[in-house]
Parts: sequence; structure tokens; C-alpha cells
Amino acid sequence: MSEENIVLEDGKKTLNFIEAIVEKDLSEGVNNKRIQTRFPPEPNGYLHIGHAKAICLDFGIAREYGGVCNLRFDDTNPIKEDTEYVDAIMQDIQWLGYRWGNVYYASDYFQQLWDYAVDLIKAGKAYIDEQSSEQIAQQKGTPTQPGVNSPFRDRPVDENLRLFNKMNSGEIAEGQMVLRAKIDMANPNMHFRDPIIYRVIHTPHHRTGNAWKAYPMYDFAHGQSDYFEGVTHSLCTLEFEVHRPLYDWFVDELKKFHPEDGSYRPRQYEFNRLNLTYTVMSKRKLLQLVKENLVAGWDDPRMPTVCGFRRRGYTPEAIHKFIRKIGYTKYDGVIDYALLEHSVREDLNAKARRVSAVLEPVKLVLTNYPEGKTEMMEAVNNPEDPSAGVHEIAFSRELYIEKEDFMENAPAKFFRMTPGCEVRLKNAYIVKCTGVKKDAAGNIVEIYAEYDPLTKSGMPESNRKVKGTLHWVSAAHCMTAEVRLYDRLFSVENPNDEKDADFRDLLNPDSLKILTGCKIEKDLENARPLEHFQFQRLGYFNVDQDSEPGKLIFNRTVSLKDSWNKLKNKD
Ligand code: ATP
Ligand code: MG
Repeated sequence: MSEENIVLEDGKKTLNFIEAIVEKDLSEGVNNKRIQTRFPPEPNGYLHIGHAKAICLDFGIAREYGGVCNLRFDDTNPIKEDTEYVDAIMQDIQWLGYRWGNVYYASDYFQQLWDYAVDLIKAGKAYIDEQSSEQIAQQKGTPTQPGVNSPFRDRPVDENLRLFNKMNSGEIAEGQMVLRAKIDMANPNMHFRDPIIYRVIHTPHHRTGNAWKAYPMYDFAHGQSDYFEGVTHSLCTLEFEVHRPLYDWFVDELKKFHPEDGSYRPRQYEFNRLNLTYTVMSKRKLLQLVKENLVAGWDDPRMPTVCGFRRRGYTPEAIHKFIRKIGYTKYDGVIDYALLEHSVREDLNAKARRVSAVLEPVKLVLTNYPEGKTEMMEAVNNPEDPSAGVHEIAFSRELYIEKEDFMENAPAKFFRMTPGCEVRLKNAYIVKCTGVKKDAAGNIVEIYAEYDPLTKSGMPESNRKVKGTLHWVSAAHCMTAEVRLYDRLFSVENPNDEKDADFRDLLNPDSLKILTGCKIEKDLENARPLEHFQFQRLGYFNVDQDSEPGKLIFNRTVSLKDSWNKLKNKD
């Protein structure tokens, strides 16, 4: 954990290792003191919280050091990509509070990349291989054993050029030929063993249609795209560390053809990716959950996607808090989901208006309270924020309280309502239970109590010591709503570690509980999608987009306390 990344000491900030590199480069005048980053999503899915971590670094560094961060869609694989994802990615970045300098697409560079590949072929540094991918893989060797040269390695330049053109004209079937860089089949870094840099794909591209059939591979496209754009710091996750020497090799070769670019060059730096407990972060798996209707879409509030969290009621500020807490390091690990929830609570505690809602209601009748009388009680909107003011909540003879706040034969430690004991009704009076009415099956259908008129909140008698404080709503002044309670999406801590199990079998069957007859105070009548509330004693909630006029639906964003860890520690 590196919370110290954001602590100001003697007015001086402690830097994370990327910031330290950037400051050193600035002080040494590297790349003419220009800072340019990019966020390079592949438009093959929605952004998840791991991407948010990368976004905060890419855009954050640019913002902090007066540079620019561009958005670049890494769209070099037409098979999986779609414009639906492009639009969603843009929306999510903006929601997180960032603005890009320019929007680029790797597909904009298909011509430049092609020209560079042709230059490499002409320089004798790339060749067309007609072997299958299996044969090529077999010849790769191992880190301790050199690979075997392809029989096509020494093909003449003009033949390579002719075949490369054919790869792009549609005459060559997928998998029939690839273009490989001719580097070193004995290099201890396997990525140097004549990497494939172009392959044939016949699926039309979402932007370039049928203009291209030969598509560059990631390693060939990424660094070069950085170069064409003028990126100075190319930040990516640790698994690309082993690709970095190849990144540098391609840039070095490209620079040979562009002496006019002087000393400029992009450099790649790697940081740890975010992994969270009780969820998966691979787009392939998330897509599978969506496609197989195991969740209700990319923005299902149980998904670790940015749009899922937004719908659930997480705020951008909460996500930023979380990302500052985890920091950027060179070590991979798994972060406890509870830390994310802690950040959400921290943020919503400061912002959310306190209101009353009863999720599983039972009627409470105050037998000595005048029939037909209504009192308006004052409720503080947010004890953390006096400027948030107060609102009024109606009180009357018939109320709803939570079923679980009543027990007929309660143990001594039950600090809620039980016959003969006094409890306080929040913002109202002290009441004492006098009895219950049951149906034929023995279920409690009504609870009876008497109120003490001298104990209204604010009166001297209201300070009397009682067993506990309960929340309530007035039966004649409330609305019925649906409330969706969410739990962890997976029932095991590290779904990725269960190698023998299909990850879909590890889904938590109780991750969604829908309550329909919930009673909410009238003040929520005009609540709007995404608005945040604290339901007193229950947690933080927001209005779901499925709500309709007169039919409000709430999502539980997060409970008030972390009951999950408590449960776990009990085992
Ligand atoms: P996936 O493997 O799930 O498809 P990806 O890494 O291929 O994810 P991209 O769209 O290529 O997804 O990622 C865009 C950027 O976000 C990359 O720079 C990548 O390193 C970064 N990124 C992706 N996942 C994480 C993560 N879990 N933590 C931090 N950064 C991430
Ligand atoms: Mg990727």
C-alpha cells in the first residue's frame, strides 16, 4: 500500500516511481521537456476498474506535469472490436473526470505501419513465412535452447515484397502466411526470436472496412503508434516488461529511417496491474458473463466495470480515493475488495443525504397517539456536513419498522424492540412495546406500542437511556419501492486461482437479492437516477436507471459496515 504517495511532507510531495522518472526526465531535458502520454484501450469491451487505475496514471501524469494525454484506440484486431465499445470507453473516461488531448486510432496508422514494414523488408530485416503458427511455435526453442531458423528466412527481398502485397490483397487465406521480423532466433529474450509482425484477417474492420487484409500485431503497432504520435512516456502493465526490449528495437529501427526526428523517442514503463478479490478483470471473461446472461449487461451493478460501479452508486471520487490508496508499484498482487468499499463509504459518508427507508416492513401502531394527527419531525440531512441542512419527515400513529428490529422473546443483548422495553424512534419519540397481533400461522402482522409525549427529540426527557434507536416511516406518508441488494459476484476470493474450475461455476448464487415492498419516506419522491442517499442504519443507496415515475428502484451501493470480513473471520 502506498498512501504516502499523496502525503504532503514539508510542502513536498512523495513521488511514485513513475512521477520520479518524469521529474528526472524533465530536469535532464529529455525529449525537450515534453510530457505526452496515452491511454490505449482495445475497443473490445467496456472499461473495468483496472483500466481506471491506468487512466488515473496516464491522464494524471499529463495533468500534473503540464503535458497532454491522448486517447488511442488500439484497434488492430477487427475480429473482436466494435464502435459500441469506443463510445462507452469515452463516456467512462469523462465520468472519471479526464479530458483527452486528441482521439487517435491505431488503424489511422495502418499505412505508416505498412510503409515501415516495407522498409524493414527492403533492409533485409523482415520476411514472409509460409509455415503454420504451430510450426513456427515449435521452432521457437526455449529460453535456454536456441530456436530453429525458418526455411523461409532468407527469401529474397523482392519475393518478400510481392508476397506481403498479396497478404493484403485478399489472395492469401488467413493463417497461410505471416510477416516476421528477422532478428535473432537464439536470443535469450524469446520475443526477439523472429516475432510475427503481420498476419492476414479477412473480417472487415469497424473503421477501415475492407481496405486492409494484413494487420499488424500488438508489438509492431504499439511502440510505433507511440512514436508517430510523439508519446514520451508509454505507461503499461508489468506483463509488458519482457516486451520492452523489442519495443525499443522497433523504435531504434524506425528512427534509422527518420533522422529528422533527432533525439526524440518514446519510452515504455511498467506498473503493477490491479487485481481485486471476489471478481475477475479479464475482458474475455466479463464478455462471457454478459453474452451468457449470467449478469444483466456490462453495467450490471455487480460487475467490476466502470459503468457497473457508476450504476451501483460509486462516485468517481471514491474510485480516485481507492486508486490513491493502492498506488503504483512494480509488484503484482491482489487487493481486497473491502478496501474499495471502504473508499466508497468514506466518500459517500461525506456526501450522502440521510433518509429513512424500511426494507422489510412490519406495521407499528402507537395506540396512545391521536388518530388522524401528523407531526413533522426534523431530520438532519448529513451530520458530517452542517451546510446540508435538514428536512422534514411525517410522523403519525401508524408506522413501519424493520421486521428484524423486533423480537418477541429477545435475549438480553438484543438492543432493539421487544415487549416491555423502551426504544427511541429516530428524530421522534421514545416508545414501549405493549403487544403484537399474529395471523393464524403465528406470524407477527402488527406490533403495538405506546409513545411518551415528553420524549420528543430535543425535549429534556428525550435523553433518557433506552435500549436502542430504530428507523421508521409513517404508513400514510411513505411510498413503496424496490430495493436491490448486491453481494460479491464470486463466492471465492480468487476466482482466477481455481485452475480446475470453470470460473462461471464460482459465481455467488446470492449476489443479488430483490426486495419489493420496501417503504421509503415521501421526501424521496423526486429522487433522480444516480442520486446518492444513506438509508439510516442500512447503508448507501442510489436510484437505479430502471426507475419509472411512481416506481422507484434503489441499488444498495455499499452497506454501512463491512459485514463480509466479520463473517469471514468467524469461520
Ligand atoms: P484484457 O486482458 O482484460 O483484455 P487489456 O490489458 O488487454 O485487458 P486494454 O484495453 O488493452 O485491456 O488495456 C488498456 C490499458 O489498460 C493498457 O495500458 C493496460 O495495461 C491497462 N490495463 C488493463 N487492465 C489493467 C489492470 N487490471 N490494471 C491496470 N491497468 C490495466
Ligand atoms: Mg490489451
